[in-house]
Amino acid sequence: MADPHRRRPENVAGDVFVDETCIDCDTCRWMAPETFDRAGEMSRVHHQPDEGEARLRAGMAVLSCPTASIGTTGGLDLRAAAASLPHPVDAQVLHCGYHHEASFGAASWLLLRDDGNVLVDSPRFARPLVERLEALGGVSLMLLTHQDDVADHAKFARHFGCERVLHADDTGPATRDVEHVLRGDEPTSLAHDLLAVPVPGHTRGSVCFLHDGTHLFTGDHLAYSARLRHLYAFRTACWYDWDAQIRSMERLGEYDFEWVLPGHGWKTHLAPGTSRPEIARCVAWMKDA
Ligand code: SF4
Repeated sequence: MADPHRRRPENVAGDVFVDETCIDCDTCRWMAPETFDRAGEMSRVHHQPDEGEARLRAGMAVLSCPTASIGTTGGLDLRAAAASLPHPVDAQVLHCGYHHEASFGAASWLLLRDDGNVLVDSPRFARPLVERLEALGGVSLMLLTHQDDVADHAKFARHFGCERVLHADDTGPATRDVEHVLRGDEPTSLAHDLLAVPVPGHTRGSVCFLHDGTHLFTGDHLAYSARLRHLYAFRTACWYDWDAQIRSMERLGEYDFEWVLPGHGWKTHLAPGTSRPEIARCVAWMKDA
């Protein structure tokens, strides 16, 4: 739990606060924007959460903060917050919460399927989350978008007995025993409703996973910018090759989808039939960035 003695002076007065250990991962800001925003290089509480949904979202942000940098002096119901994670995005996808510091606070997602649930990237292996995942039917497959967001993958694989998928170019000592290794730059069908689309750029082995032409899990390849108000990519956090990432983005424009579900940055829901022009807009922005 955050340290009240290290409470940031930028917080407004009240029972919820951010302390000086914040790593600026953005999680609390997109989970509960009515409570958290950015001031300087860190988050702060800009408005104390009102009753109801706002307090529930603030509580979920407390549990999801990767560095336990959000504190409450007693007013938030964290038991209710834990019962609300994973939290529904739509009828099939839930946001897991419990972000891991080893993934710099990246989001992970649970996809509910009749053929077995899929966990995309790794949250913290926190007991309340694991019990909720069990209650939701467990995990049959783990999709790892790239090397940076694997965190507790081995613990989840061991606990649920699920196979993991990762691209060969992003495997390393901690992931050398991943069961399904993708190779090359061509898309791979993983199931009738799951397609792996390699998108080298952010890292050499980055992959987007497309579910049923609807949900696109993008890792750190693509996200929505609330400031720019369009899809974008992380120019200053491109670890492999920006030109390669632009080419990958152009190839991604050959697919239809509605949801963009990233590791970092904000998720978004696109109107049906608009993903291709939205990706074209993103590509145009990338070429100028
Ligand atoms: S979730 Fe935690 S580490 Fe991330 S921005 Fe918020 S307070 Fe900072």
